[in-house]
Amino acid sequence: MIDLAVLKGSSFVVLGLARSGLATVRALTAAGIDCVAWDDNAASRDLAAKMGARVADPAAVDWTSVTALIISPGIPSTFPKPHPVAVAARTAGKPIICDVELLARAQPEARFVAITGTNGKSTTTALIGHILKEAGARCEVGGNIGRGALDLASLGHDGLYVLELSSYQLELLQTFRADVAVWLNITPDHIDRHGDLTGYVAAKKNIFARQRAGDCAVIGTEDDASRAVAAEMSARTGIACVPVALDRPVAGGVSYRAGMLVDADGYTVDFSDVPTLPGDHNAQNAACAWAVCRWLDVPREAIVAGLCSYPGLPHRQERVASVGNVVYVNDSKATNADATARALSSYRDIYWILGGQAKEGGVAPLASYFDRIRHAFLIGEATELFAGQLDGKLPYSRCGDLKSALDAAHALAQREAAGHAVVLLSPACASWDQWKSYEHRGDAFRAMARALPGAESLGRAA
Ligand code: ADP
Repeated sequence: MIDLAVLKGSSFVVLGLARSGLATVRALTAAGIDCVAWDDNAASRDLAAKMGARVADPAAVDWTSVTALIISPGIPSTFPKPHPVAVAARTAGKPIICDVELLARAQPEARFVAITGTNGKSTTTALIGHILKEAGARCEVGGNIGRGALDLASLGHDGLYVLELSSYQLELLQTFRADVAVWLNITPDHIDRHGDLTGYVAAKKNIFARQRAGDCAVIGTEDDASRAVAAEMSARTGIACVPVALDRPVAGGVSYRAGMLVDADGYTVDFSDVPTLPGDHNAQNAACAWAVCRWLDVPREAIVAGLCSYPGLPHRQERVASVGNVVYVNDSKATNADATARALSSYRDIYWILGGQAKEGGVAPLASYFDRIRHAFLIGEATELFAGQLDGKLPYSRCGDLKSALDAAHALAQREAAGHAVVLLSPACASWDQWKSYEHRGDAFRAMARALPGAESLGRAA
């Protein structure tokens, strides 16, 4: 837990008591700092009370003695409609911040690596953290992934915090400064919270706010908005701007071409055999991680070793088991066609399990990958919609549920597959028709695949 003693004498209102809100309350009360905590959920309020917070509806708070409102990034403080407590704080002239801001204030001597982008944040954050830890660095990984910012250990001088930051969190920072900021990519997302793409890009650009001479900005350059950001950052004096490009050389940056990572000085790493980071999207994540670790002076050999031993994250093209030549891959996090496209582009000879609660457009946008698919196995509510979209283009079966789909895919793959086939759960759908969450669905798939006759477990333990 982060020691917040430096903030003694302050007083905070904490609104939103999920993972990061509760970690905030725990750190504040442990340091003897006054805080009022609130959440619409009574069970969360009880937990905060047990930690020593004063639980009270912030509508009734006297704001004069409050230092700042710490708001859960999921609660709108501006757009589309600010939460009434945010309005009250603003009217009283109080700052609205998030837990990451408190971390920065409490750890002024530590260094910060911050990662944002529309896609790939968690993977890149976990990958950088893994490489640094394997290389012996004192580092903590959290933020929007895993543990909340104030749940991390106090590191002090020479410590490194590797933080995944969403656009919502980035809007709630006032003094936080990233020694290294990573910008992966931008595609329209969360527009409801930012008004339009310009608002979304502006929120994300806060990752570079307060960067100064000697800091570093690593920027993926695969889309127009990101290329504009790279041009802007390379014009800022003293900041090392490292562009990252796919399929083309890039001056002063890191590129990925035909299975090779190529550093600014031409140093080349054969990247074609890292099974936990399949596909060009992961090459972008790995190239960004490479650039960060090089800037932090991690030796090249240690970065290569870290990339090769990266265990991957659950539910994102997670290799869970193999039976003979066939590998079973859990990509349950792919809840829309765009995410599934990344998985389909990474393999050939695919026995594809898909379905659940369909998103707009279904699987029609995936037609260009259909030649990679040997057979599709449909589950859940989307069955008839997808059957219509696949009809005449692909062989498919209606399987009903995940267990039947896996059994059918397994049987066919084992009968037909020569080379390197995959049985891939990449549903392109939400899970809620049959499961509590995508994690629930992915955990079930992992357990079922590992229980198949002759299965060998791959990757991390469950
Ligand atoms: P995030 O934390 O930004 O949601 P994740 O690392 O959890 O990203 O990856 C989620 C999904 O996004 C992956 O399963 C994959 O489909 C896709 N993805 C990952 N990295 C990238 C990338 N660099 N570019 C585009 N899509 C990506």
